[in-house]
Amino acid sequence: MAAKRDKATDQMKLWKESSRKPVPDTLTTGAGIPVGGKLDVLTAGPRGPLLVQDVVLTDELAHFDRERIPERVVHAKGAGAFGYFEVTDDITSICKAKVFEHVGKRTPIAIRCSSVGGESGSADTVRDPRGFAVKFYTEEGNWDLTGNNTPIFFIRDPMLFPSFIHTQKRNPQSHLKDPDMFWDFITLRPESLHQVSFMFTDRGIPDGFRHMNGYGSHTFKLVNAQGKAVYCKFHYKTSQGIRNLSVEEANRLVASDPDYNIRDLHNNIANGNFPSWRFYIQTMTFEQAEKFRWNPFDLTKVWPHGEFPLQPVGRLVLNRNPTNYFTDVEQIAFDPSNMPPGIEPSPDKMLQARLFSYPDTHRHRLGTNYLHLPVNCPYRARVANYQRDGPMCMYDNQGGVPNYYPNSFSAPEVQPRFLEQRYPVSGDVQRYNTADDDNFTQVGTFYNKILKEDEKQRLTENIARHLKDAQQFIQDRAVKLFSLIDKDYGARVHNLLKKYSKVPNSNFGHVDEAHSSMEITDKAHL
Ligand code: NDP
Repeated sequence: MAAKRDKATDQMKLWKESSRKPVPDTLTTGAGIPVGGKLDVLTAGPRGPLLVQDVVLTDELAHFDRERIPERVVHAKGAGAFGYFEVTDDITSICKAKVFEHVGKRTPIAIRCSSVGGESGSADTVRDPRGFAVKFYTEEGNWDLTGNNTPIFFIRDPMLFPSFIHTQKRNPQSHLKDPDMFWDFITLRPESLHQVSFMFTDRGIPDGFRHMNGYGSHTFKLVNAQGKAVYCKFHYKTSQGIRNLSVEEANRLVASDPDYNIRDLHNNIANGNFPSWRFYIQTMTFEQAEKFRWNPFDLTKVWPHGEFPLQPVGRLVLNRNPTNYFTDVEQIAFDPSNMPPGIEPSPDKMLQARLFSYPDTHRHRLGTNYLHLPVNCPYRARVANYQRDGPMCMYDNQGGVPNYYPNSFSAPEVQPRFLEQRYPVSGDVQRYNTADDDNFTQVGTFYNKILKEDEKQRLTENIARHLKDAQQFIQDRAVKLFSLIDKDYGARVHNLLKKYSKVPNSNFGHVDEAHSSMEITDKAHL
């Protein structure tokens, strides 16, 4: 990449040109004390041992030793940017959230797009879902929409989430990606096949983050000023157009520019080519939800557009790169439980679990007061609660305001107008088994009605080239399941497996001669 001086490559040159300071700042320690020498340690004699009093050195080393914070367990590799959300269509009759208050209203946003399974240093152009999280800095606190580039997910019961993610990562003994783990789980939980089918199509390797759609994925609830609620799904469709990388091109980039997605987003924003997405909702009344032929809260299913049309709401525009990657992107923390009045959770089991799990992981990764960090702080609202103290408390800790409630000294009070929408629930408490909740119909529609012949061919090739490295009984189980979706789907995978099994087994981690370019990318994500 060095030969091509794009804006990302020229970051330091551009920073120098934009810096107006006539003389460099004086170098200091972390405590701001000027440092006189930074190239040599303090020693007793030229060859002598170091002195403990070289606090310039110990200050430097001690901080360096603590530079890393825990990597995100999923979505570890990503890019971020800032911009705005603009309302283009009035939905105030459906939702009272201030973010939708009037046409033309703009709300600052931050986004983070990511791959899912790989570590923070992994290559960008691998086959994997992509995260697409948006933080809206509203006057009623931050609204975090933590979606993906797919409207669905692999599982519908959050009890399976940690196990599912383990199968995407590394074998506990070999520390290698493991095709048995991946395909064993997928074929034991056929609800995953809808998302698996999306992931092995061309859209499984988007051409950067600008050329993919985003989806809130879960079912949410929108509530209007009269307290009437509907269920809702969010969609953000790329104005740049869907564009994907061929397997060959993706593999080339794994070696030549593993940070392709981060670079692409940075350069386009730096060049004033601001990416944008049209923002839509689908809504479903409670009555429709009762009668819908599928569970409307099942994250492995979509709401067909024909029955629940997309309604335009606004657009997302990204026009500013992070000023510092660590503070703006590594430390950004999205939390689906951040929902301002007018936006509420549905009974979607996966969403309900994320409401707990996301803030929980942030408290572990960033600390109790992670909401004090500038990128996470709800800077357009005033925080007034009874939480105090904890490590790294960055503000005035709400000064002398009473820290208990109720009290007689006029501290913040609850406002009944912000109460959640009231709704009835019923049913016996038990662990409901959802394994057989129609795992095939929507995948069949996707295979037969959405995919063209050449797309089907590439889908089944991509699957077979992965699946061939799993054990035979797992391959057989997979073929059976693909056949249950559609006979042709199963037959194609079966025939391609026969063809590729003749290729010497690559042991999933060793690149075989015949398919070296395909294998690198296909293995990289598993
Ligand atoms: P529609 O024809 O109205 O919508 C089909 C959708 O498929 C479009 O949104 C299209 O996105 C998307 N699509 C096209 N190719 C791919 C791909 N390779 N991977 C993922 N999505 C793709 O039909 P329905 O709403 O009735 O849905 C039919 C089937 O389409 C569903 O069973 C589901 O599998 C799939 N689908 C449905 C979506 C929904 O929210 N209803 C969303 C995505 C997929 P685009 O407009 O960007 O081309």
